[in-house]
Amino acid sequence: MSASSHNDRLQWLQGPGAGVRPDNRVKCSVVPATGKNPWRLVLLGAPGVGKGTQAELLTQRLNACHLSTGDVFRAAGKLRECEQSNAMKAALEFMRRGELVPDATVWEMVCERSHCLLQCGGFILDGFPRTIAQAESLRKLMEADHIALSAVVNYELPVSEIVQRLSGRRTCEKCKSVFNVKERPPQVEGVCDRCNGRLIQREDDRPEAITVRLEAYERSTAPLIRFYENLGLLVPVVAKGTPDEILARTMEKMHELAKSGGK
Ligand code: AMP
Repeated sequence: MSASSHNDRLQWLQGPGAGVRPDNRVKCSVVPATGKNPWRLVLLGAPGVGKGTQAELLTQRLNACHLSTGDVFRAAGKLRECEQSNAMKAALEFMRRGELVPDATVWEMVCERSHCLLQCGGFILDGFPRTIAQAESLRKLMEADHIALSAVVNYELPVSEIVQRLSGRRTCEKCKSVFNVKERPPQVEGVCDRCNGRLIQREDDRPEAITVRLEAYERSTAPLIRFYENLGLLVPVVAKGTPDEILARTMEKMHELAKSGGK
């Protein structure tokens, strides 16, 4: 990632609410190479299916803006208090309690970045929307600007494989790099390849917590899947294979939908 795109991403994460006056907003300069018919995507998928990895790969491939609401909240947590908008402060309280942030707070935070959603000519939403109310708010915002979603990609994997993936996941304490004891082991057991930090298993990656997380995901996302299916936007993608194979499958399915008139 170049220094300038890194800066753009920081601005995108912080948003105008984080100390930037509305009349002096940073313009999102992560503009897609071909701005005529850009991709506007929502990614869905249970924890552990590799949605974050695909979001990064799709962002590079499509040169689009990537908005992960979870990333925004985590970045907000690292800002000094005076740099945090009120929406961010409220969101952090919910996150700390391990709860979903209420729709109104999430929406306020997304609205702080709506100029990017509407101006960039393409985006990838990762972790948003998570509820029907959020999906409805997004639809209204886009309709008001005469734009529409291109596709909603739903990454699918059997529960048994998700549990295996998540329980094998190890995260670097220092740089947060992610490894897997089976699929992507580090060169030295328990030590990060990048920074020599200690690899740990996240509390919520333990088998008993995984089941609870998957059930919660299923409950909140099943209605969203039906919502987007009814709009003819859903693109189911099997999340098996290497990240590049899954990316290729995603692009193929997206183009199929586009050809059939979805985009
Ligand atoms: P994630 O990285 O997407 O799993 O998000 C991490 C945390 O951020 C979640 O556990 C929620 O507390 C909060 N969060 C992120 N996106 C949303 C959203 N769209 N709606 C509600 N809470 C969210």
